[in-house]
Amino acid sequence: MNKLTWGDSGLRNGADNLVLDSQQIIVTHTDQLPLLRFYESTRTVALGAYEDKDFAVRSAYCQTNSLPIIRRLTGGGTSYLYPKQISWTLTLPVQHLNIERWLDIICMAVCNGLSVSGQENVYFNAPNDIYANGKKLGSVYVGVLDNVLVANGTLFRSLDINTMLHALRIPKEKLTPAGIHTATHRFTTLPHLSDAGLFQLKKSLAQAIALACNLPTITQIQWIDNTHQTYVCGHYNLPEYAHESTYSGFISTSGGVLHGRIAFDTDLRISSLRLNGNVYIRPHNLFRKIESVLRGASESEITHRMDNLFYENQWELFRFTPHHIKVLIRRLFEQHEIAVKLSIAPSSASSVMIHDPEGTMDALDIAAKADALLVPYCAKPAWCKWRHKDGCSQCGKCDVGEAYKVARQQGLNVTTVKNFEHLEIVLKTLKKRGTKSYLGMCCNNFYIKREYAFRAANMPALLLDIAGANCYDLLQEQSAYSGEFSAESSIDLGVAEKVIRLARRKPVL
Ligand code: SF4
Ligand code: SF4
Repeated sequence: MNKLTWGDSGLRNGADNLVLDSQQIIVTHTDQLPLLRFYESTRTVALGAYEDKDFAVRSAYCQTNSLPIIRRLTGGGTSYLYPKQISWTLTLPVQHLNIERWLDIICMAVCNGLSVSGQENVYFNAPNDIYANGKKLGSVYVGVLDNVLVANGTLFRSLDINTMLHALRIPKEKLTPAGIHTATHRFTTLPHLSDAGLFQLKKSLAQAIALACNLPTITQIQWIDNTHQTYVCGHYNLPEYAHESTYSGFISTSGGVLHGRIAFDTDLRISSLRLNGNVYIRPHNLFRKIESVLRGASESEITHRMDNLFYENQWELFRFTPHHIKVLIRRLFEQHEIAVKLSIAPSSASSVMIHDPEGTMDALDIAAKADALLVPYCAKPAWCKWRHKDGCSQCGKCDVGEAYKVARQQGLNVTTVKNFEHLEIVLKTLKKRGTKSYLGMCCNNFYIKREYAFRAANMPALLLDIAGANCYDLLQEQSAYSGEFSAESSIDLGVAEKVIRLARRKPVL
């Protein structure tokens, strides 16, 4: 194997750095040359290679604040790049590809490089975060293109948490369930470094990466400025995709959140499908292949077509399986079923989140067996004396009262969830008393972040996404978790009533 060639391309904008990344891949591929490039980026939001922009970033904020959004060539979640970070891209010709193994190797190498240069208590938190003294110091993301392993990494020299929190819809839970700390307290930076110290640190990182990748030695070069070429993101930068007859949904997995959008033809065959996620997959175009192979498929043909595709191709899904993709697609079909059954628009049916981790129950069946309805306190008016209490006098002044009324008519027990801890208690109580399934309302951000709590309760559920003032968009999720969110979200009462009436519980007389 050739020695690792490394250099520094200095401060550029995110798009130019992406051009350099793609050029680096070509050189590594054609010359079998391992390359490591350090750089700094102007303020840029960098989506993971397979992410759905709508779910990953707050586009309006980025536009208003002139924050460009680019799409990395590596998987995982969105990162926010800005000056005063040590950013780097490694490209390596590899024969044996295994995403998990390479994430481990490279994260470990970064930790070793940091330790050698004097940083204490450094470790990595799988799959891809670098920590120092219990706080996040940076991240690593990997991808595989044309038998080239690509790794992007960042280490913080300063923090810009405010912009990061505004620009990113952080898709994975980063808070511990017990503690709610301010975001700033979860991050740390490298100590101040002189130019010589910075150079030494980069050299240590290069040496540690070379050692971890079995490269004999390192050599430093001057990085040649060659960003005049226009980078073409090709088929990975797909056009925005949403129209009237599109259903959308998601599924939480250990490897990240998978998103799907689907449209059907008149015979209920897939006319278009889009798969996304803050995940790691191999090959790079695997989602596009699945979408293409499923075009024209009926629901009953999905398993066969997907099984053939996975049999005929080499592939890797990091911490999720083809089964998760099948469950996601099945849920999109179920949303169509719900839309037809309830005579509601695809967009309304897409607001129904089907919580069924095993993927064994039908959505309409879950609704039919439900014996309880959970309502979030944030949907009650801020002035209502019941806002933070479990109950409602059905005074007729808000939609929650109507939902209470219909649910009680159906014989459902209704509970107002007052905060996250209360939700856990309510779910345990339902389970204990033999509830088979339940209905609920919450925003999709909450469900994605707290899916583990719903999973722990081990009961399927139909959850209606709520609209209006959402504590995630208002950046008040911490106060929301503790029950102190003061803005008002709203429920789509028309859809909620129809879903509640699907419950077949005998009314209590
Ligand atoms: S209907 Fe219930 S929740 Fe709504 S304002 Fe009246 S008491 Fe409060
Ligand atoms: S997380 Fe916020 S917006 Fe979502 S359901 Fe809870 S309080 Fe409401």
